[in-house]
Amino acid sequence: MKSYIRFLKILFLLMLAFSMYNKNRFLRSEIKTSIGYFNSSFDEKIYILKNEVNFLEKTKKELEVPKYKTKGRIKYFEVNGYGVYFDTAVVMPKTYDYYDIASGRESLNRKFNNSFYGIIYNKVRKVEATELYNQAAGVYRGRGDIAFVDKFDERWAEALQKKMLSKSFFKNTKSVSRDNIEFVLYDSYIDKIYGLNMFSIIIPNYEMKDDIEFLNGIWYFDFDNKFFDRDLEALKTKLNLDILIVDSKNEVMSSTDKELDFKESDMKKYYSYNLSKTNYKILVKKITLKNLLGYQELIFFVLFLALGVYLSKRERLEKEVEKLKIAEKIRRHLMLRDPLTKLYNRYFIEKGLEYPIQNCGVVLIDIDYFKSINDNFGHSKGDHVLRGVSNVIKLLGGRDVHGIRWGGEEFLVVFKNTDRYELLRKIELIAASIKKLDLIDNVAITVSVGAVIADIETKECLYSAIAESDKNLYKAKVAGRDRIVM
Ligand code: GH3
Ligand code: MG
Ligand code: MG
Repeated sequence: MKSYIRFLKILFLLMLAFSMYNKNRFLRSEIKTSIGYFNSSFDEKIYILKNEVNFLEKTKKELEVPKYKTKGRIKYFEVNGYGVYFDTAVVMPKTYDYYDIASGRESLNRKFNNSFYGIIYNKVRKVEATELYNQAAGVYRGRGDIAFVDKFDERWAEALQKKMLSKSFFKNTKSVSRDNIEFVLYDSYIDKIYGLNMFSIIIPNYEMKDDIEFLNGIWYFDFDNKFFDRDLEALKTKLNLDILIVDSKNEVMSSTDKELDFKESDMKKYYSYNLSKTNYKILVKKITLKNLLGYQELIFFVLFLALGVYLSKRERLEKEVEKLKIAEKIRRHLMLRDPLTKLYNRYFIEKGLEYPIQNCGVVLIDIDYFKSINDNFGHSKGDHVLRGVSNVIKLLGGRDVHGIRWGGEEFLVVFKNTDRYELLRKIELIAASIKKLDLIDNVAITVSVGAVIADIETKECLYSAIAESDKNLYKAKVAGRDRIVM
């Protein structure tokens, strides 16, 4: 029973471990597939942006430059709420390229959860071909001639003038794209005009001339953090783990934990995956014990604990019972003993003997004139004599001989499987040994003995045999003591 419960306990522990191991494996593969989806969804978004560039290219019209305003080195004008500016232009051109940014913005916002913020187009100055390739391969370093600015108002011109606009930010050579050809994902920044936390996805716009690819311009698509937030939240709901996107310098761009104070040293607390074709990383908080403990595991754990408690309780009870058994043994042992002589007492006949007893010698031994020993030498000397006589009975007794203190100075000795001759010999030996005891100076102790031999069937038979023996003892006393009557 006990080992069966132990087995159950181990089984529950194994089930708990197995369940947690399985869950861990499942979660890890869940994370991998989810990150796969996340990346393909990001690829799709870039693809949409590239299509948008193609669309905008198709809407291109060459229009005459209308009346423009000047703010410091910035010259600008408005077209239907969109701004066109010329940075550091010495001589204003007669025409400019017009793109239908309004409808592009609308469709992008539908596709990007209203996270799309604005478009800027920077036309690249005509420079030497080699330099153009440098720009294409590296980071855009040229200054834009023209920008089409979504949500254009007077503040834009001012921002451009004071270099508050994200454009100055773009000039920092912080490329994060791997190949720098398809697109560039820029670090997040706070737009100082609208106070929004944003980042830009930059798509270069090429033109083929004489089989050579020229960088014609660059499209900046500005998004606020909602661009990633929704996908990150979906991931978090699916995996129940916090997710971050960090840039190439491990600075947080987007996070499901808004309170998070992320430091570079925290990287080891996360699984790290690359964001498709960028130097950005998607970080997934590592699986903890908490993630692995569901209802099922909790049940196994509780069962394991409950069995543990049950087992230890049982063990304690068993020990208690063991102790009680020993105590009972001692008690029974003491119950059958006479405290003074350590011989059995009368109770032994009831509890300590097994019947029937064949060829049983029933012997009563009574110390002669014991009263006078007490009277002459004191009660404690009398006790001393009783112990001495008892020791003789014990010593000469054996496996088949039981000595019992029958009364004050009277002893019953039961011999099993004996015969007249052997019994007599043994009684004589006992009597002689007692006589030789040197218990009181110059006083020899003698005993009178009455004995019978009988087949004892029951306890009652033993009592009648004792009565017979007592009659013989009486005869021995009357005949002058210090003798055996059988
Ligand atoms: P008899 O030869 O006829 O047997 O004479 P007796 O003096 O031995 O017999 P009696 O029955 O007259 O006296 C027995 C005495 O044993 C009386 C009692 O005080 C004493 N006795 C009984 N139990 C104990 C005991 O445990 N210790 C001591 N010291 N004396 C005891
Ligand atoms: Mg006596
Ligand atoms: Mg007596």
